Amino acid sequence: IRTLAQVDPEIARAVHEETQRQEHGLELIASENFVSPAVMEAVGSVLTNKYAEGYPGKRYYGGCEVVDVVENLAIDRAKQLFGADFVNVQAHSGSQANMGAYMALMKPGDTMLSLDLNSGGHLTHGAAFNFSGKLYKVVHYGLTRDTETIDYAQVRALAQEHKPKVLVVGASAYPRTIDFAKFREIADESGAAMFVDMAHIAGLVAAGVHPSPVPFADIVTTTTHKTLRGPRGGMVMGREAYAKTINSQIFPGIQGGPLMHVIAGKAVAFREALTPEYKAYQQQIVANAKALAEALKSAGLRLTSGGTDNHLMLVDLRPKQLTGKVAEAVLDKAGITVNKNMIPFDPEKPMTTSGIRVGTPAITTRGMREADMAMVGKLIGAALDAAQDDAALSRIRGQVKELAQGFPLYASRLK
Ligand code: PLP
Repeated sequence: IRTLAQVDPEIARAVHEETQRQEHGLELIASENFVSPAVMEAVGSVLTNKYAEGYPGKRYYGGCEVVDVVENLAIDRAKQLFGADFVNVQAHSGSQANMGAYMALMKPGDTMLSLDLNSGGHLTHGAAFNFSGKLYKVVHYGLTRDTETIDYAQVRALAQEHKPKVLVVGASAYPRTIDFAKFREIADESGAAMFVDMAHIAGLVAAGVHPSPVPFADIVTTTTHKTLRGPRGGMVMGREAYAKTINSQIFPGIQGGPLMHVIAGKAVAFREALTPEYKAYQQQIVANAKALAEALKSAGLRLTSGGTDNHLMLVDLRPKQLTGKVAEAVLDKAGITVNKNMIPFDPEKPMTTSGIRVGTPAITTRGMREADMAMVGKLIGAALDAAQDDAALSRIRGQVKELAQGFPLYASRLK
């Protein structure tokens, strides 16, 4: 057997360089994480070779007896983890999970009510240039100006006025706890189905660190690669009554053969998520986010809504007279990875923004704790204060590397 380095030295070099980047930098993108070697082994396995259109016990291909075991394990573990009646683990991504869920709940032209993109919603929650904005009529709710949190009174008023088919709940950039019971109430009052995309907070939900939407929602989707810490992919959960329709919307509705190697990775991640260590990990993510929030405030930055309840925070850069675009590039030079992000009522355009989104899932996986967050906050502050000074940013990059090396990740792969 020839190795990757022998077959394709260019890709082998890129993998090596990316391993170095992940190992020596500070990964603060709120939607990213580091999977365990066990998850990676499953995803890199021979299961990638297998076609398995259909569902366990009802496939359109022979030789599926082993992958049936894999998919059933993934389903059973996910049910146990989230207390769901029904789970589909085949969605290739969060976007496809959402598409499958919408198709189970709406017809083209129906109305959905969701959080708008600039207030922290996701593209698939009805953005004009996304399939969701093209197929459905979309009404958006937003945040209040004073608290920068979800404007539940507006949600209620819009639901009464527009009588949406689906009330969409969930976000990509929202630092506070979501009140699922209140959304259920509003959905019931207006006759809407309640759909929750818990992609960002799924790991917190699994560990009981954020309230679960599962008892409240008709359908819940998630990605498996964010706080949940599995391989890239999606998943759909729902009440038993939706089982048949969700399955048929995912396959054959919008997908062909499932990615059995990824489903195996999901199963491994769910097994890991059922352990006490995982619960402690999720609690630490939240504790670290609170500590980092304090450190960033001490560095002179403003946090939207005043802080965080979950794994992420939105940093308003205007006190430093910087845009998100500039800050992202400056922090990159210092070995700190974040993404520019709109803040509530942002006067800047989406490609510029006044903010960055900062999250703790990945650095918490490395083993960092509250005291390290004080250091991370200082390094971010120092880098932003040295935005024009490449020599200073290079020195900070050295400090970042030193800090990161105290928390080895995939270091053995770099030998
Ligand atoms: N839903 C939310 C809330 C997200 O934040 C994301 C990803 O950023 C998605 C869905 C889409 O997931 P994917 O990138 O796997 O399509």
